[in-house]
Parts: sequence; structure tokens; C-alpha cells
Amino acid sequence: GAGENDLPQEIWDKVKNHPCYSEEAHHHYARMHVAVAPACNIQCNYCNRKYDCANESRPGVVSEKLTPEQASKKVLAVASTIPQMTVLGIAGPGDPLANPEKTFKTFELIAATAPDIKLCLSTNGLALPEHVDTIAKFNVDHVTITINMVDPDVGAQIYPWIYYNHKRIYGREAAEILTQHQMRGLEMLTERGILCKVNSVMIPGINDKHLVEVNRAVKSRGAFLHNIMPLISSPEHGTVFGLNGQRGPTAQELKALQDSCEGEMNMMRHCRQCRADAVGLLGEDRSAEFTTDKIMAME
Ligand code: SF4
Ligand code: SF4
Repeated sequence: GAGENDLPQEIWDKVKNHPCYSEEAHHHYARMHVAVAPACNIQCNYCNRKYDCANESRPGVVSEKLTPEQASKKVLAVASTIPQMTVLGIAGPGDPLANPEKTFKTFELIAATAPDIKLCLSTNGLALPEHVDTIAKFNVDHVTITINMVDPDVGAQIYPWIYYNHKRIYGREAAEILTQHQMRGLEMLTERGILCKVNSVMIPGINDKHLVEVNRAVKSRGAFLHNIMPLISSPEHGTVFGLNGQRGPTAQELKALQDSCEGEMNMMRHCRQCRADAVGLLGEDRSAEFTTDKIMAME
């Protein structure tokens, strides 16, 4: 299948040192997420708001919510303790772009105090088009968009509603607006040279076959990586599909889908679905060392 070296040089230069994208780099560089974004502007059927957003994080763990000031302090504390700290992401617990003041204030504070740290964010994409210029202004290195469908009829089964233009919109109409914004946002970012990764949650019987079409749609709009993640299904994750709950895919089903997409573009298979307040090298979680109490005591 396609390897990382098939990427254009300017993209490869960014990717090769990135802990989340390069198998090689993730042993040497650390990343952290700060949980500054509590609100969300859509409802996913696989989400229950008690946990971190599945945009970029493992559901089932509750992250500590921070103000932008606390978050930037935490970043500085972590960067002085973990020298490999190179990437700061905002990924939840809700949608970063449904909390634009908090998200961009955090970026502003970090850019002012630690300009070498690369910034990233993940989003469901609904509010992406209106924020692309601000994202570019803050030199955000890469954006992850969670895209689970390009067909509103499939979308209506995944998203009961969105909140847009000060009102709640339901069903197929909601999914249609969401997919339009996701596609337009993706195009606008890649036109500006911002790296875009797409995450998809594989939901058996709902979008499993359809994700091959999603793969084509995001590749043609310049996404450099497609990360297909399994739905994590259990009562405590709050998956509300169907009456008896929706099962997640088997490892075999996931691999078969990833294989049928591979060759189309780079697929990411080592994502750890980190929590929204993850700290450290990939696969490692040092968040307990950096709780707000401890950071405020570091004065
Ligand atoms: Fe990287 Fe995936 Fe973790 Fe995000 S969730 S920091 S992309 S490994
Ligand atoms: Fe939950 Fe994230 Fe979906 Fe919002 S975008 S409903 S926080 S999974």
C-alpha cells in the first residue's frame, strides 16, 4: 500500500517530525492535549457528553477542564519537564470550534510564550469554514476533521441534530449542512497549505461500507491521511444507536475496511485515540503528573 514516502516533499517535511503521523517520530517527540473546549455544536449518536469528544480522543475518560490561562501554564510546565514536547493539540472534551474564544485565546497565549510549539486542533467541521482564516492566522500546523459520511441519508442515522445559525436543525437537513461544511472546510484548509487529517468512526451497519466513498471524497480534497477508528461500544460509553445498543466492528472488519481504502491514500494505523488531556510520548500518559493543582503549585 501507499507509504509515508509517497507524500509530496513539503507535506513529508512536516509529517516526518510529527509524533502523531510518523511511526518513526512518535518514539522521539511528545505531544499534549489541553481540555479547554467543553461545548459542542452537534450531537453524534455515539457520544454522551460526560466523556471526551471522539473527534480525537478515546471516549470513556473524563478530562479536567481548563481555562486558556491554566492551559498555557500547563503547556509551559510540561515543556520544561518533557524536553521532547513539540505539539499542543486542542481536541475537546467538546468541539474546539464550538468554543472559539477559549480555543484561540489558548493558541494566542502559547504562541506568545512558547512560539516553537506546533499547534493543532480537531473538529467535527461544522464551524470550520468561518474559522479557517483565524486558524491560518495562528499558524496552526494541522487540523483533524472527523468525517463519518458524505451522504446525508447516512448522516441522518449518525447525527440527530446540529446547532447552527442560532437554531437546532434535525435529521437529513442537519447532515446535509454538516457534510457541506466539512467538505468546504477541508478544501479551504488544504488550499492554504494547512495539513488535514480525517478521522472516521466505523459503525457497523451504518457507515461501514460507505467509508470507502468518504475515503475518496477526502483524498480528492487534499487530506493527507485517513484514520479509520472503531466505534467503541459499551453501556458506559453511552452509545445510543438502536434499542439494544450498537456493536463496534471486529478487528477483522476494521482491517478489511482499512485494506480496501489503502492504495487510495495514506492510512493511519497507529493512532492511540488519546484522551483530550493526554501528555507525553504517544502510547504514554503522564497527565496525572500535570493536574491543575500541581501546575498552580509550580509558581
Ligand atoms: Fe495523535 Fe491520535 Fe493521539 Fe491525536 S489521538 S494525539 S492524532 S495519536
Ligand atoms: Fe460528542 Fe464530539 Fe460528536 Fe460533539 S463532535 S457530539 S463532543 S463526539
